[in-house]
Amino acid sequence: MSNPWQSEFQRIAGLALLGAILGALIGHIALGLLLVLVAYLAWHLYNMFRLLRWLRESKKFQPPEASGIWDDAFEHIFRLQQRNRKRKHNLRRMLKRFHKITVALPDATVELRPGSDEIEWWNNAASRYLGFHYPRDSGQRISNLIRYPLFLNYLRSGDAQREIEMPSPVNEDITLRVRVIPYAKNRRLLVARDVTRIQRLERTRQDFVANVSHELRSPLTVVSGYLETLLDADDFDAELTGQLQSMRSQTDRMNRIVNDLMLLSRLESEEPQADREKVLLGPLIDSIVDHARELSAGNQHVIEVDVDVSLCIMGHEPELYSAFSNLVFNAIRYTPAGGRIMIRWQERNNELVFSVEDSGVGIAAHHIPRLTERFYRVDTGRSRATGGTGLGLAIVKHVLLRHEGRLEIDSEVGRGSTFACHFPVGRKVECVDAPDGPRVAAPDAVVTQM
Ligand code: ADP
Repeated sequence: MSNPWQSEFQRIAGLALLGAILGALIGHIALGLLLVLVAYLAWHLYNMFRLLRWLRESKKFQPPEASGIWDDAFEHIFRLQQRNRKRKHNLRRMLKRFHKITVALPDATVELRPGSDEIEWWNNAASRYLGFHYPRDSGQRISNLIRYPLFLNYLRSGDAQREIEMPSPVNEDITLRVRVIPYAKNRRLLVARDVTRIQRLERTRQDFVANVSHELRSPLTVVSGYLETLLDADDFDAELTGQLQSMRSQTDRMNRIVNDLMLLSRLESEEPQADREKVLLGPLIDSIVDHARELSAGNQHVIEVDVDVSLCIMGHEPELYSAFSNLVFNAIRYTPAGGRIMIRWQERNNELVFSVEDSGVGIAAHHIPRLTERFYRVDTGRSRATGGTGLGLAIVKHVLLRHEGRLEIDSEVGRGSTFACHFPVGRKVECVDAPDGPRVAAPDAVVTQM
């Protein structure tokens, strides 16, 4: 039992004794006890009144003086109040700090009301980049203030994984990268970043590569032409002819690099054309296999094809040809003579998948994440010796990006690799005019038809 209770019981016992003595003096013990009880109750009521008055006048800091359990109660409440005051003070300071941080953020930040697209709050950068004015735009629907169609579709889609780029509503020269982030319950935050400089740099880089490739093309054509003429003339001794042939193979390699660079520039800078046409994969793969057989030449690779000819895709045929042929030609180039190459085109796990599996040299795991970088090569010597440009997989990546696809690479050193292009099933179209089957007629190709 705590001390205040002990003294309180002593007080009650003392009062009861006093009541009994008083009662004995007036000849009514019960009356004496009642009088003392009433006095005791009055004391409690008085203290309760003082407590309530103190709580109401919260500004008054110190609790009133009291005795017994009331002193203890006042003390406890006072300590609780102090703790709450301190907590409130800290919270207020923290809120103020967060508010200052978000206001000072260089990115436009807009808080939307729960379950709607009405604006609850925004920072200074949002006023600057999105043109919001306080209090005029508070509570307005953001879709009424930003009318850019790409933004409206994005807002409606609710796709938190994606971000979009759009011109600033107040200045067309500013490009904003916008992302809507869901948080808490049913709440959304819109963040817009000024990426004008990054975009300008990226465009400068793209233009530079495109211009350099373009400028190199003409002199290369001239040099190739003269070399061809010299070799055709057949007027030179064996040593000089060998040197001329080596010059031709090097100019051919430069031509291939320039062509791949120009293709990459186009893939990066032009609008995707992936929804333009229905692509019949059967004939496309046939043609790639024909070329692969030429590339394989005396190496006697076993090329197997497993193609679902009833499966067509919406896409851009030349781009898909570039991507798929790069994968098939790589398989030939990185698979030793007599190796096996399996080409598949199927619908699998709700996706359309084009895959090339080879029994070639394979790739160590740590190289795989970097393979689609420009000029990244695992074995530079082999790449050059087999006519590689170091740009093939970068082209594949960009083509897939333009077709909402992704590249999966599975490989083991010494056992072989599988490169698989996955496309969303939404790209599937009926090939009503599809041919009966693949026209692959390679003598060394085993053709399996689904
Ligand atoms: P390259 O023209 O050098 O082949 P790519 O971009 O096509 O350039 O490929 C990048 C690198 O990935 C290659 O240099 C090679 O080391 C590796 N690679 C690509 N395909 C295969 C494959 N089927 N088997 C083994 N390694 C491969």
